[in-house]
Amino acid sequence: MKVFSLPMRTRFRGITVREGVLFRGAAGWGEWSPFLEYDDEVAEPWLRCAEEAAAGDWPAPVRDAVPVNVTVPAVGPEQAHAIVTRGGCRTAKVKVAEPGQTLADDQARLEAVRDALGRDGRIRVDANGLWDVDAAVAAIAALDLAADGLEYVEQPCRAVEDLAAVRRRVSVPIAADESIRRAADPYRVRELGAADVAVLKVQPLGGVRACLRIAEDIGLPVVVSSALETSVGIAAGVALAAALPELPYACGLATVQLLERDVVTDPLLPVDGMLPVRVPTVDESLLDAAPDRVAHWEARLAAVRAVRQDRRP
Ligand SMILES: [Mg+2]
Repeated sequence: MKVFSLPMRTRFRGITVREGVLFRGAAGWGEWSPFLEYDDEVAEPWLRCAEEAAAGDWPAPVRDAVPVNVTVPAVGPEQAHAIVTRGGCRTAKVKVAEPGQTLADDQARLEAVRDALGRDGRIRVDANGLWDVDAAVAAIAALDLAADGLEYVEQPCRAVEDLAAVRRRVSVPIAADESIRRAADPYRVRELGAADVAVLKVQPLGGVRACLRIAEDIGLPVVVSSALETSVGIAAGVALAAALPELPYACGLATVQLLERDVVTDPLLPVDGMLPVRVPTVDESLLDAAPDRVAHWEARLAAVRAVRQDRRP
């Protein structure tokens, strides 16, 4: 096992350094990078994902490239325009409902993104659960107009029940992201009729095959998204996206560029809005975490394995 500790280009999800472990197994490398605040119980399925990758136990791909979206943070219109133009993707995911900003800020950002993408590009927005039901219904109508058509709205409200309430009142499709963090969550989303699209992440849900089963069971279109992994972890997300029988939407897997550096010689970066389906080559000289961070991750791994041991009947 090797520990990595990589600076982020900009603060994202409240963190400035991304840490985790790479395991080398019979077939290659797997990434285990649960966020630092997660407890051992939550971090356990993340470990299964790494073990599956290291064992080479991925389903066969049905496509050789995966469409991805460019992500536009809550920036001003000029910067949003530049990010989309530079990104080279046909789909943009735009952050909205940022605390301290107004609906007018979101509208201006979306108009700029539409201008940069052109008529046939697709625009989705992500509110990260920050609206209440009434605010969501009003904002979605306004933003659908500003964007000249939204592909979907990701996590308009925090609670899955509120997602269902919004979905009954708007015609724009709803995607569940934060509402799906543990293996049972996608079934709850389906049961409540809370979403039209399920955002799945391979690490929190226990790996590629586990996600493939969930996708089959819930019968909703899936968008595969990252948990801000290195290219080694992104390859697992790509393996899921490559194996899904249907892939109607671009995936949220173009996030390696958020890291200041990577752990491979050939990072999984998009070309013309597509990620290739391939396994990148680890450069062990880039895995040089400080001794105290290595000790932290060794202790964490031991604790998560103990959780597993306790579960055995
Ligand atoms: Mg999201």
